Amino acid sequence: MTTQTVIQAMADKVLAGDRRALAQAITLIESGRDDHRIKALALLDLLQNSNREALRLGLSGTPGVGKSTFIESFGMMLVAQGLKVAVLAIDPSSARTGGSILGDKTRMERLTREPNAYIRPSPSQTELGGVARRTREAAMLCEAAGYDIILIETVGVGQSETVVAQMCDVFTLLLAPAGGDELQGVKRGIMEMADLILINKADGDLAAAAQRTCADYAGALHLLRKRAQDPDGFPKAACVSALQDTGLPEAWEDIQHLVTWRKSQGLFVKTRADQARYWFAQDIRNGFLAQLERDPYKQKIIDLAEKVGQGDMSPSRAAQLALASLRSAPINDANT
Ligand code: GDP
Repeated sequence: MTTQTVIQAMADKVLAGDRRALAQAITLIESGRDDHRIKALALLDLLQNSNREALRLGLSGTPGVGKSTFIESFGMMLVAQGLKVAVLAIDPSSARTGGSILGDKTRMERLTREPNAYIRPSPSQTELGGVARRTREAAMLCEAAGYDIILIETVGVGQSETVVAQMCDVFTLLLAPAGGDELQGVKRGIMEMADLILINKADGDLAAAAQRTCADYAGALHLLRKRAQDPDGFPKAACVSALQDTGLPEAWEDIQHLVTWRKSQGLFVKTRADQARYWFAQDIRNGFLAQLERDPYKQKIIDLAEKVGQGDMSPSRAAQLALASLRSAPINDANT
């Protein structure tokens, strides 16, 4: 079989919802090998217009807040409604630890056993840009494979929320009940990204604290600038208990309401188009940077940096020469 036939066969199987083919396809897009990258792009070309649309839900929260418990309960609820659910993760720490937040499948035992749920461990990569692209492409593959909901999880540390928010239709921040009235040090920028803030563990002894925290966040959200993509009442704060399955149907209703409204306003499609353009620009940027890391450019950059450091050349002149040398560079599909 030619490469093209193999890729076409893989695309057909993914479209038919074959889980093994989906897993293989994701492994292919995660690979850093140049020949794999060429195949991966061919596969993505074939699946680009699958005419399937999944809802992409981003979920962020610090370790221990209950993300896996939430995904398990929320995912089971969606599966019970006849929906197909895929779970992906962006784990900025996996590069350091070599582990992965979804590597341990026992975290979502019930969901793992569901035929209509697909859980993919996060790829361990060295830099966020690479992980982001792979997760985004994995989401596209899951969409083509007929999944209705794609949950993209990330640990709430630094930049990864921005990355997840840029590939999701709805972004949810999961928080724990706070002891006092402080806003848990959640950065304003993260709050501004959230469509829904869910205070988890609103059960037992923590119920009252959860209600207070929820009221604090509702107040804080109220003070934020109104965004064009929000209907009345959004962004919203609400209490849930992932452990006791309370508040989850309401959260799902909120999400659906938000999505329906955004679709009716043309904002859903617009956001996706904006995101696609954002990733296009990011990939170009990453591609250039990766190219600069390769020979013969790498050595040239080192030499130019040396001249700049010694005061023999201005930084601007050196940068201009470096970029000029890239202009004649061959296109390398696998350069990011
Ligand atoms: P993650 O690190 O964000 O994925 O958090 P986990 O889902 O692993 O949960 C961390 C701990 O919080 C576990 O001991 C869970 O049982 C507990 N937990 C998660 N959700 C709830 C909840 O709704 N209520 C209570 N009381 N505990 C919860």
